[in-house]
Amino acid sequence: LQRPIASVHGRGRQVTCADGRTTRSIDLDYAASAPALDAVVDRVREVLPHCASVHRGAGHKSQFCTREYESARNTVHRFCGADSDDVVVFTRNTTDALNLLARCVPGDTVVLDIEHHANLLPWRNRRVVRSADSVEETLIRLDDELASRPAALLAVTGASNVTGEVLPLDRLADLAHRHGARILVDGAQLVPHRAVDITAAGIDYLAFSGHKLYAPFGAGVLVGRRDWLDVAEPYLAGGGATRRVSVLGASVDIDWAPSPARHEAGTPNLLGAVAIAAACDEIGAIGHGAIAAHDQECTDALLGGLTALAGVSVLRLWSDSTDIVGIVSFTVDGVDAGALATALADDHGIAVRAGKFCAHPLLSRVGAADGAVRASIGLGTTADDVDRFVEAVRVTCLSLRDRVTTGSLASAS
Ligand code: PMP
Repeated sequence: LQRPIASVHGRGRQVTCADGRTTRSIDLDYAASAPALDAVVDRVREVLPHCASVHRGAGHKSQFCTREYESARNTVHRFCGADSDDVVVFTRNTTDALNLLARCVPGDTVVLDIEHHANLLPWRNRRVVRSADSVEETLIRLDDELASRPAALLAVTGASNVTGEVLPLDRLADLAHRHGARILVDGAQLVPHRAVDITAAGIDYLAFSGHKLYAPFGAGVLVGRRDWLDVAEPYLAGGGATRRVSVLGASVDIDWAPSPARHEAGTPNLLGAVAIAAACDEIGAIGHGAIAAHDQECTDALLGGLTALAGVSVLRLWSDSTDIVGIVSFTVDGVDAGALATALADDHGIAVRAGKFCAHPLLSRVGAADGAVRASIGLGTTADDVDRFVEAVRVTCLSLRDRVTTGSLASAS
């Protein structure tokens, strides 16, 4: 834990604090967007000089780019443990991937109320199940819902973007399949931390974002079963998504291409795809065992440090969850979350996030409807980062409480 386990671009840059001091910056906001790995930056730099149109040109550079793009697709396919029949569609991000799938589901979807808005709003006219205080009770509620009426899909997050709690995906996949439904996993927060083998875990669809996987350039992934994707009309219509187009009378007659081309209209994001594939390769080289061990140490240190501070409450969904990825959200008695996050940045050069994390129902459900602070770790995090963060929270809370007390005394007098 003394050193980062991967070389992360821009790590530890000097920043100037509000009082003019310079300090080493600390990034504890990996769950929002992770910095690029140096290996990703190097790979993108290799490809950049050769950029030309993917799938659309006869020149050498075009051929090179088409090969790079399709090779990136194969890398992602392997990284997810996809089956040979599964398809990888490159999207803009997780949100785009989930909205795309929402257009393809031939029936009802069941979703929990703990989801990031990206995996809640696309299903807003479907069936939302309220989560219970324990994982076990939540599984029973999902089971009852799926038994009560058939659904085509169960859409769940792999790990909560607020509490980091990991859902029991094997059991959820069994549960969905027992009721004749498929399962989609929003892997935005899980994939950067854990190996996800969709075939072994029985996951039908997985969505994730490059920018949370150390490949921060506007690309994401939807991977999964081909049949639904090959039947639905694409929600993005345009060049590259068709086999044949003609005008019949006053209307346009279209023969849509099969997936993935069907859902990748327009010139694709080559560098985004290359960056994701490079990140997959580098994560494979570091090893998921090493990543999980590093994660665990950092998370334990974060939790240990924060819970030892007076007035800090760590947000948790379930009393019986045992597995979390490196995300810790918390509130502090008498301290405004936004003010704390701003002071951490301005006075200590530490980046965290404050707010409701695009998960308003979840925040209400855990009693933090006004928002919280979230610290999230990644491959560049060290013990020193965590220690400095905890100490900065301690002194900042003291001074913010002081200001409130002094302010209220002043206004009372
Ligand atoms: N799902 C989860 C669990 C997330 O944390 C996020 C990003 N905060 C998203 C979906 C959406 O990701 P993106 O903004 O990359 O589409």
